[in-house]
Amino acid sequence: MDRIIVEGLPFVPYITHERIEAEVERIASRLREDLKESQPIFLCVLNGAFVFAADLIREIGLTDSKIQFVKYSSYEGTSTTGTVKQILGLNEDVEGKDIVIIEDIVDTGLTAEKMIADLKKKNPRSVRFVTLLHKPDNARSDFKPDYVAFTIPPKFIIGYGLDLDGKARNLRDIYVIEEE
Ligand code: 5GP
Repeated sequence: MDRIIVEGLPFVPYITHERIEAEVERIASRLREDLKESQPIFLCVLNGAFVFAADLIREIGLTDSKIQFVKYSSYEGTSTTGTVKQILGLNEDVEGKDIVIIEDIVDTGLTAEKMIADLKKKNPRSVRFVTLLHKPDNARSDFKPDYVAFTIPPKFIIGYGLDLDGKARNLRDIYVIEEE
């Protein structure tokens, strides 16, 4: 893994694919246990969570589960706009169901908080929240994810589904923006 340039910005290696795999296995085994009596609906939050969700649901291995792809967007470039929009793409009835939201990263927590509030209006049996990355230092709400793979400082990262202006989602490892 080497230093890379994306959209003119330098990034350095941060979390290897091997470490990601180990965390995916750890979280998957907890979810497998917690959901063993259930037929959950996973909600993969597009775009960033698609790589994590693909690995996670295969590792969990509950064939009776379903996956839906939903969308919310609050980010442009490398800084949050502080506004969140509506859930798009939720066409499964979630009433009485166990819902597991799969996110790439929780930064301010505003997206997560809004999404959970919107979902709860649809009367699911339970809502769990899984995130690959959590930046608690940037929190602007009391929201705490139920399952976190990596807790990180408030730096901008890319790779493993996370983008910079749509690029770099393909990287197998996670990279962090290089400090001056
Ligand atoms: P929040 O509402 O928690 O502030 O925003 C969460 C969303 O912001 C994530 O789903 C992601 O799209 C974006 N985001 C936050 N931090 C980063 C980051 O370091 N890198 C990338 N690529 N996106 C981020």
